[in-house]
Amino acid sequence: MSNRQVLIGLVAQHNNDHPNHFFLARAYSQAIINAGGIPLIIPHQPPKQLASLLSQVRGVVLTGGVDVDPQRYGEEPHPGCGEISPLRDELDFAVADWALRHDLPLLAICRGIQVLNVALGGTLFQDIPAQVAGALKHRQQAPGWYGTHEVQLEPATLLSSIWGGSLKVNSLHHQAIKRLGTGLRLAATASDGVIEAVESTEHRFVVGVQWHPELMEEHCPAARELFRKFVEAAAAD
Ligand code: MN
Repeated sequence: MSNRQVLIGLVAQHNNDHPNHFFLARAYSQAIINAGGIPLIIPHQPPKQLASLLSQVRGVVLTGGVDVDPQRYGEEPHPGCGEISPLRDELDFAVADWALRHDLPLLAICRGIQVLNVALGGTLFQDIPAQVAGALKHRQQAPGWYGTHEVQLEPATLLSSIWGGSLKVNSLHHQAIKRLGTGLRLAATASDGVIEAVESTEHRFVVGVQWHPELMEEHCPAARELFRKFVEAAAAD
């Protein structure tokens, strides 16, 4: 099957600024198109319908957004925890669970890596500045296409096969993985020890990145490679 026919689901974004809207930042769909896939935005819907929809896509993207409800990983809310959307959590965790159970290729971006980790029993730092001593600035005040900190890639990972030993990335997050979920391995770390990427050891293609490669790809050809590999994995079946 050619890449032109590879339907990729993208989880719709939702927040309290516009509670009556589902939406998707254009860069996500553009990155999928640039990689040869067909983007399909997935809104919140009943579980049965969602399962039927997911059985028709070849891969799925967990997109960025507001914070995961800490109750999902057994914690009370820290004062530094940001906005949460119960509707978004319900959608994202249903999609993550389905994809993991069916070995559907999954690319998890920013909030997505956090959902992926919690779906596999891991936990999060609710606020990096408050909870990680000596942390870098992970909420950059620079354009999204511009990389502000380095990440070191772990050898023998899928991400190191794309980018080698290190990579400059953007940083638009205030939460991060605390304890890794079951079946995930570390793939990239910032110099302050904050986890910046993970991969599943038990699936064909389950990758989470804490940065936003979709915002970098216009200026940084290396960022495009991740979407290309993802769509390739989705096409392979
Ligand atoms: Mn970062």
